[in-house]
Amino acid sequence: METRPRILVTNDDGVYSEGIKLLAQALGDLGEVIVVAPTQEQSASGHSLTLHRPLRVRKLEEAWFGVDGTPTDCVNLAVLWLLRDRKPDLVVSGINFGLNMGDDVTYSGTVSATFEGTLLGIRSIAFSQEVAENFSFEPAARFARELIGAILATSGLPADLLLNVNLPAAGYQGVSLTRLGKRIYQQSVIEKEDPRGRKYYWIAGTPEWSPEPGTDHEAVSTGRVSITPLHLDLTDYRGLDTYAGLCGGLSNL
Ligand code: MN
Repeated sequence: METRPRILVTNDDGVYSEGIKLLAQALGDLGEVIVVAPTQEQSASGHSLTLHRPLRVRKLEEAWFGVDGTPTDCVNLAVLWLLRDRKPDLVVSGINFGLNMGDDVTYSGTVSATFEGTLLGIRSIAFSQEVAENFSFEPAARFARELIGAILATSGLPADLLLNVNLPAAGYQGVSLTRLGKRIYQQSVIEKEDPRGRKYYWIAGTPEWSPEPGTDHEAVSTGRVSITPLHLDLTDYRGLDTYAGLCGGLSNL
């Protein structure tokens, strides 16, 4: 008997969020879906791993688990413990409430869950949904099913496949393969005073995007689904040449 693909679903909005419910439902007929996600919202938790306190896992229903930790904790607990009899074939994260594009992917718990999947040797895909009045997760859930069905049906995809998918709020016309866009930061810290006269700070500001063609931001802002292939090798390969002279001078130390 052929084994069905095993799909681990996680997110950073929490196990009770609407986006993860629709995603898990949409993937249900593509394989064995197991949901392991934070019990509390973990948006902007980045690639944080909990090492200084114990983690608790709660079984909420069959194949649904809540963890009092980060998305990265969830992927580790799922792959290295709950599903240790057979590693998942895919890690799918989302559908996030809000876009995760460009420079923001490094803060994103949604995308970081896929970083962790890739580090554990599992092909991983993140889905994020633009939020606007009257938006729905349903087109994104249908798109996720279509894309993951295609990935499962395609042989020869690299083992470190890592895709970051963003969907526009008002449905979509077409799909673009993109690169990460660039944020323009404006007034990003606000200083105020608390009732006891002590200063406090809030990281804020409205994100603006550099209007560059071929970016995830451009695709979503023109009503297209953006798919950005990512990798985790942060090496600056041009830097190996650029800094060669600098380091050459240090070799006598
Ligand atoms: Mn989130």
